[in-house]
Amino acid sequence: MVGAGFFGATVAERLAAAGKKVLVIDRRPHLAGNAYSYKDQATGIEIHQYGSHIFHTESDEVWGYITKFAEFNNYIHTVLTRHNGNLYPIPINLDTINLLYGKNFTVEEAKAFITEEIKKDIKKYQINEPQNLEEKGITLIGEPLYQAFIKNYTEKQWGTDAKNLSAEILKRIPVHFDHDNRYFTSAKYQGIPKAGYTKIVENMFQSENIEVRLNTSFKDLPADLKMLTTIYTGPVDELLNYELGILPYRSLHFETEWTKESLGCAVINEADKNIPYTRTHDYKYYQIHQPEVLASKKSYLCKEYPADYEVGKEAYYPVNNTESEVLYQKYLELLKERYPNIILGGRLGAYRYWDMDIAIKNALDLAALILKNKNIS
Ligand code: FAD
Ligand code: UDP
Repeated sequence: MVGAGFFGATVAERLAAAGKKVLVIDRRPHLAGNAYSYKDQATGIEIHQYGSHIFHTESDEVWGYITKFAEFNNYIHTVLTRHNGNLYPIPINLDTINLLYGKNFTVEEAKAFITEEIKKDIKKYQINEPQNLEEKGITLIGEPLYQAFIKNYTEKQWGTDAKNLSAEILKRIPVHFDHDNRYFTSAKYQGIPKAGYTKIVENMFQSENIEVRLNTSFKDLPADLKMLTTIYTGPVDELLNYELGILPYRSLHFETEWTKESLGCAVINEADKNIPYTRTHDYKYYQIHQPEVLASKKSYLCKEYPADYEVGKEAYYPVNNTESEVLYQKYLELLKERYPNIILGGRLGAYRYWDMDIAIKNALDLAALILKNKNIS
């Protein structure tokens, strides 16, 4: 198992529980992949090393599985976004609309008003069927809301004009015509693990059938180990030495500091172009089950800056579009020739913009498939 993130951990745990011996390697010095978190001993604040991770899912199966290894608090994620120096609820809701337009609309008035705005803008830009993120944004909420809260944030995050991006990305953030300010509206379950994310993976690796080697890269494994049935959760272009070119990814860098100033909530987004980072995290606000941590006089603030990807940097986000899908499929063909023993998985291996729950669901499905297949030993 290459990678000790949630995908690798789930497959390893399921196979080990069925009696298989699993060697898990990760080139990082820690477990849990991008969800890795650790406790600051002085304040008790659980720091999410790679940006905020909030567990949320619609799936009974995934929730039933993950709660075997962790207890979650009742945190419900909400976010504010800053535009022209003022804070607004995001995802866009009735309050966002009223604040931006300086109105006091009721639910029905807001719906009627925004419907008219959309009609006007569809005509202005002659949009029939939205072809990209920009057109989708305008047809969902009208141009002023799109320009204020979506366009600049999106262009910072993805490093390209919103017209070059898939409309699919916007499915992640809903629009509400009431006062609902939950970020993950459709989540049946959500929360933060009380003992942190890394502890979940430690609990998943309790079986004697699992051996873990950290600071270990796949390329450094002896040849005989490389020939074993392998599940690989890293980038496939790197595995195949970029022979067909580099798949597009977005990277990030994080700037952190201890301050006496608190953010006042877990996350504030920055909607404007002139602010180079997309969001600030104040992790202590996730620990609603520990009032003493919430009351800490210090905060660990983390600013998240989007960054261009280049070989050697962390590939945090796959950039999914028609061209990248064609290249990814070519890599799958090449992989079959070179490493018929390797199964790709996880957010990077599958090259999919997956949240933790979707990574776990896919891992559960893969483990079940492997256990059914008598040819895989
Ligand atoms: P990863 O966590 O990326 O794990 C892959 C592991 O494989 C890594 O540890 C890597 O070191 C290792 N690896 C790769 N190649 C090799 C190699 N060649 N040799 C050895 N080891 C290797 N999801 C949510 O549900 N909620 C959130 O709030 C949320 N916030 C996020 C915020 C950010 C900034 C990012 C980037 C992602 C966020 N996600 C969130 C998504 C979440 O991080 C992923 O869904 C999850 O980490 C996927 O798990 P994974 O095991 O597929 O991949
Ligand atoms: N987005 C936006 N404005 C915001 C928040 C999100 O335009 O204030 C868009 C942006 O394109 C982003 C996408 O919605 O990439 C998904 O947002 P999400 O918060 O799910 O991103 P992630 O946490 O995965 O980085």
